[in-house]
Amino acid sequence: MSEFNLIAQYFTRSAPNADLGVGDDAALVRVKEGHQLAISADMLVAGIHFFHDAAPYDIGWKSLAVNISDMAAMGATPKWATLAIALPDVNEAWLAEFSRGFFDCAVKFHVDLIGGDTTRGSLTISVQIMGEVPIGKAIKRSGAKVGDEIWVSGKLGDAALALAHLQNKLILPDDVLLQCEAALHSPQPRVSLGLALRDIANSAIDVSDGLLADLGHILKCSNAGAILQLADIPRTQLDESVYGHEKQIYLALAGGDDYELCFTAPADKHTEILQIGEKLALPLSCIGRVTQSAGVIVHDKIGEILEIKKTGYNHFA
Ligand code: ADP
Ligand code: MG
Repeated sequence: MSEFNLIAQYFTRSAPNADLGVGDDAALVRVKEGHQLAISADMLVAGIHFFHDAAPYDIGWKSLAVNISDMAAMGATPKWATLAIALPDVNEAWLAEFSRGFFDCAVKFHVDLIGGDTTRGSLTISVQIMGEVPIGKAIKRSGAKVGDEIWVSGKLGDAALALAHLQNKLILPDDVLLQCEAALHSPQPRVSLGLALRDIANSAIDVSDGLLADLGHILKCSNAGAILQLADIPRTQLDESVYGHEKQIYLALAGGDDYELCFTAPADKHTEILQIGEKLALPLSCIGRVTQSAGVIVHDKIGEILEIKKTGYNHFA
């Protein structure tokens, strides 16, 4: 199969958001009047971001979902994506499943695939996402204010629990395994939440590398610190016999790949935020406060300070 047939068969679909999609030297899009173009890219490499034998459907879904998650974290509406892919060989069964997963995610979030590049090489998937946000309305990392409440959506640590299970570090009970595998393999970018927070949140980030690492980015950009209440951090709690208490806490605080949103907002928005969570059927938890003094302090149940050694995943650490 030639490169061009491959692109035509697996990566060409209608692109209602674009003036011109796949097939020319460049795609053409129009940004709505009064809006800014939000652009982000995320690369997934076999053996680092997913196992070599991972289900191709999941790889397709996730490669787009993690990019859409960056739009959600900016309060932007995702609209267009490009896909640069290196493939070790042409495996049509793999390609069919990969593109099915990719387009299922694209359709769900109204994103058009408008271009890309296809080459031979070790399996690497690089997606660029583009979206729209009204001028000045993007939610940046740098906007957190001292006194803001710190919130997270959904649960933290489920993806890391699934990974630990796959790495034979623990054995999850069947029902928990299902839920955690869904978190790891088919993350749901929180686009509606990001849009609802445009006029409410002072700062936001998506949790890809772990809560402490990603909240740390907000705090660094905003010249602030934080106090968190461990008891308020939403997480799956397992019996100590399944996995040690401290290790469970570590996964919730520092485990990556959840793609939930972490955001800060003035305390007087508390009720409004809870109502947004109800409307979206997405639990939102207030987990702490932004403070003046730098660094993150985590209080345990009895108010003592928890010691944390490693804060998250870093590719070059
Ligand atoms: P060029 O030689 O100009 O770079 P290509 O032959 O690489 O063009 O690509 C032909 C068309 O197919 C272009 O519109 C390009 O954007 C698109 N394309 C290539 N690879 C992909 C892909 N993996 N997904 C989506 N579109 C792709
Ligand atoms: Mg090309």
